[in-house]
Amino acid sequence: MSATVHNVEAQAAAGEQELTDGFHLVIDALKLNGIATIYGVPGIPITDLGRMAQEAGIRVISLRHEQNAGNAAAIAGFLTKKPGVCLTVSAPGFLNGLTALANATTNCFPMILISGSSEREVVDLQQGDYEEMDQLAIAKPLCKAAFRVLHAADIGIGVARAIRAAVSGRPGGVYLDLPAKLLSQVMTAEAGRKSLVSVIDPAPAQIPAPAAVRRALDVLKGAKRPLIILGKGAAYAQADEEIRALVERSGIPFLPMSMAKGLLPDTHPLCAGAARSTALKDSDVVMLIGARLNWLLSHGKGKTWGEPGSKRFIQIDIEPKEMDSNVEIAAPVVGDIGSCVSALIEGMGGNWPAPPADWTNAVKTKKDENIAKMAPRLMKNTAPMDFHGALGALRAVIKERPEAILVNEGANTLDLARGVIDMYRPRKRLDVGTWGVMGIGMGFAIAAAIETGKPVLAVAGDSAFGFSGMEVETICRYKLPVCVVVFNNNGIYRGTDVNPSGGTDPATTAFVKDARYDRMMEAFGGAGAHVTTPDELKRAVDAAMDSGRPTLVNAVIDPAAGSESGRIGNLNPQSVVKKKQGSMQ
Ligand code: ADP
Ligand code: MG
Repeated sequence: MSATVHNVEAQAAAGEQELTDGFHLVIDALKLNGIATIYGVPGIPITDLGRMAQEAGIRVISLRHEQNAGNAAAIAGFLTKKPGVCLTVSAPGFLNGLTALANATTNCFPMILISGSSEREVVDLQQGDYEEMDQLAIAKPLCKAAFRVLHAADIGIGVARAIRAAVSGRPGGVYLDLPAKLLSQVMTAEAGRKSLVSVIDPAPAQIPAPAAVRRALDVLKGAKRPLIILGKGAAYAQADEEIRALVERSGIPFLPMSMAKGLLPDTHPLCAGAARSTALKDSDVVMLIGARLNWLLSHGKGKTWGEPGSKRFIQIDIEPKEMDSNVEIAAPVVGDIGSCVSALIEGMGGNWPAPPADWTNAVKTKKDENIAKMAPRLMKNTAPMDFHGALGALRAVIKERPEAILVNEGANTLDLARGVIDMYRPRKRLDVGTWGVMGIGMGFAIAAAIETGKPVLAVAGDSAFGFSGMEVETICRYKLPVCVVVFNNNGIYRGTDVNPSGGTDPATTAFVKDARYDRMMEAFGGAGAHVTTPDELKRAVDAAMDSGRPTLVNAVIDPAAGSESGRIGNLNPQSVVKKKQGSMQ
């Protein structure tokens, strides 16, 4: 039965009755479930869906590229524990959004990518429809769940399934495919209302088994050099008070992963951030809370972790399959972090012994040493700036404005900022995450401003910024309190590379020299600043944060200052042939 026949029949059956259609049902289903904001890029077949959603009181933020809209939705999900929604057109728009959906899934952020699609009958016979693509099949392996709705009466169920799949258990990305014809399908308003589903308890608490909690406490009690690692899952869980209580009651040093910084302040006496290597290498029991033993933690083995067999791991995670993924987990605690941490605190009782003082002192000594070593480098007020000098200025900005949200991407700009800029509050640091992906910057900054209403400081390398730079127009259009600082060293990693062939093309990693990124913001009515010293940088950023006006600060960094791939240069494969010939270096 074609949709046209279906519509006519429905209308006939409806007679004088009030009608609704696919457009309205999608919007009603989202609103019913508390979705207040949609990020997207308009176009066929979802232009009217965006318009009507705006009319219905949903905030619809139109970005300039779907990948940025998807990144915005993903980080909205991280910040709010509700699925961030991204709306795109078919095939190319869908594919652009899919990168962000896959990234959200990898990072365990709840997100729903809703894309319009072409007609099933034509797509399945491969007859060449406008933007023809079997989007559902393509999305499936790249996200947590994927659904297609073919009948207006199923929209309520489709949206409910998408929401539940995104936020329950380990959060992730969900694809929802809406063929164009679905949107204009008609049914009676009464039947439409009844078809909607209000999702009750979308992310139910998952209580850990008492035996698992006891086992974890036994392992912890035997520790001589215990360490807690907090990951972005712990930040996501919004169990801030419980986590603080666990750390402080146990007296165990903690190491925050990048996006868990600020869960407890980086200046907390038990923070081992500045003694990372020592803490990882010398600890004997490590409790992971919402952090995976992936590449970011050297898979729990190798030099980083000291002598083989010197560790026992306790892991708290909502995903049972995460256990033993890289090394043996002596005490897996499966459940949501709030419930698990509460159960641990309860099990610890009133007089939990503090860890041996020689361990906590060793961590503290190392930390103080490293902080003292770093301090003079952060105060260098020279032109051109090096990374440390510039970051010293931004560190002071965040210290004075702990409520501000820091978005951070780049290579050197990322790796060094992570170490230099202390965070004081939970979920204030948003960065490149598990994939170390470039291009999240402006999408994250936009959603951070929209979802929290707080000022945003986005610190990006010139290369990283380029992936989403056009969104400065979006930032100006919505008048968002975002200050972008571009660390401009004229290129990728550095701006000093030369073309090894001696030809006239620039080196593959070099950009236009002395570019004025600040003028991009000015082009759309925002403020621009061009700075060459840390003092100027601090003044420009303070002014931007005080005014709340969209601002881009072009921070001139010494083109020779960066190192290849920042701190992860070791991941670059080396050509043996090149070395033998000795012709390249
Ligand atoms: P990081 O990169 O900061 O180390 P990861 O993304 O590797 O963090 O790990 C986050 C972990 O947190 C994932 O394994 C995920 O399953 C888990 N997680 C996410 N939300 C929760 C939650 N509410 N309760 C328990 N675990 C969670
Ligand atoms: Mg650069």
